[in-house]
Amino acid sequence: MSPVLVNLAYLIASVLFIFGLKGLSHPRTAVRGNLLGALGMLLAIVVTLIDRSIISYELIIIGFIVGAAIGAVLAYKVQMTGMPQMVALLNGFGGIASLLVAGAAFGESIYLGVAPTDQFTIATVATGIIGSVTFWGSLVAFGKLQGVISEKAIHFKGLHTLDILLGAAAIACGVYIVLEPSVYWPYWALVGIASILGILLTIPIGGADMPVVIALLNSYSGLAGAAAGFVLNNNVLIIAGSLVGASGIILTDIMCRAMNRSWLTVLFGVLGPTSSTPSSDEVYAGKIKATSPEEVAMVLDSARRVVIVPGYGMAVSQAQHAVRDLTNLLESKGVEVEFAIHPVAGRMPGHMNVLLAEANIAYDKLKEMDEVNSTIETADAAIILGANDVVNPVARTDPHSPIAGMPIIDVDKARTVIVIKRSLSPGFAGIPNPLFALDNTLMLFADGKKAILDLIGAIKEA
Ligand code: NDP
Repeated sequence: MSPVLVNLAYLIASVLFIFGLKGLSHPRTAVRGNLLGALGMLLAIVVTLIDRSIISYELIIIGFIVGAAIGAVLAYKVQMTGMPQMVALLNGFGGIASLLVAGAAFGESIYLGVAPTDQFTIATVATGIIGSVTFWGSLVAFGKLQGVISEKAIHFKGLHTLDILLGAAAIACGVYIVLEPSVYWPYWALVGIASILGILLTIPIGGADMPVVIALLNSYSGLAGAAAGFVLNNNVLIIAGSLVGASGIILTDIMCRAMNRSWLTVLFGVLGPTSSTPSSDEVYAGKIKATSPEEVAMVLDSARRVVIVPGYGMAVSQAQHAVRDLTNLLESKGVEVEFAIHPVAGRMPGHMNVLLAEANIAYDKLKEMDEVNSTIETADAAIILGANDVVNPVARTDPHSPIAGMPIIDVDKARTVIVIKRSLSPGFAGIPNPLFALDNTLMLFADGKKAILDLIGAIKEA
């Protein structure tokens, strides 16, 4: 194929990626965005395969079938609650694919005795380092979220010094590769050193911060892909990798802002209770009012406006379909129902939007935190379904709390607050929630889905 045609096709594929990303920024256009991105990728792959006439199609077809089969099984089997670790694995595979491609291209240049350009060797080094850190960092993130290794932050004395030494050693290998591009082993030495660095950079981060780390590793996988694009001189790989790199960084930043935490405290700090965090007994003793579905049905009977705040517990109990039925039932009785969506509710960005969309709940009922907060005083009832940290008022009131300054949904200002969860266990941040002990709060202790189904039954019987 002529280079002009190839690059034109790559340009079209890149435009499709960009429109795809734009589509993904809103739930209404997300499916179309996904399809545009996939179409761009299909075009890029087909053109690349046609362009490289000397490749073996048999191996590619076998790889395609095996990969597609594994991907299809995982896509059907993995639960929504397991998505963060699934994404971690996918990022890791992106990283290792890039480093293997760069390693193969480097080995080929040595085998053929071609003198490589500086762009080639520098890009090879960058791919090796970023790809290895991404692969091993992602495996550690997967292990922590899947419970294969301890979720706890693992620290030891001299860890940061060791990180710096390993980083310096990897760069030294890189400099050697650029100056002496006829020797192959330094590339694999570099990969080995960067792999240890990837593990050591991720183990000191607690499971609680893993979703942010995964967004960052997503960005690294894009950067590794872009660097591999410079190794292969492939424009579409450079553009696609850069888009992934940039969107991963933006996502990381959005998540940090939504939690009011800096990148540094995520990467090097520990989230959790401190010595000044009050105990559960201090916060809850004698103040908790347990309720029943029948009592909640009575509260809702006189309500005109209800705000539902979903959280991680809705995902765990898979209550989204039951919530849709509750919404329809309340609306049939003339109640206005809205959903308040916190940007970090659940365990990944957009977690609640995806679940509610799966249950066909209309997008216009999903309100962002600021919009709901401005009118929350007019809500007759706020139903908190498996959410905890995102409605914890200590974020506003206690500057020493681990979630201090995190924007929250001000449900405590609603007339009646109904909290549905199984116990008084804390949420992700590991701290008690004084919301549960407020005068206007009723606690409905149950699994999220069962509670909503019982509530529907109680409303129908009332
Ligand atoms: P939380 O983790 O604060 O609380 C979830 C609550 O759900 C728990 O208190 C638990 O209580 C309850 N729960 C669990 N299972 C069930 C069930 N089957 N039925 C009913 N309730 C259940 O969740 P939030 O969504 O409020 O907050 C998300 C947290 O995750 C924030 O701290 C955020 O910073 C953090 N985070 C989010 C990210 C994101 O991208 N979304 C990324 C990184 C971190 P009980 O066990 O008593 O039932």
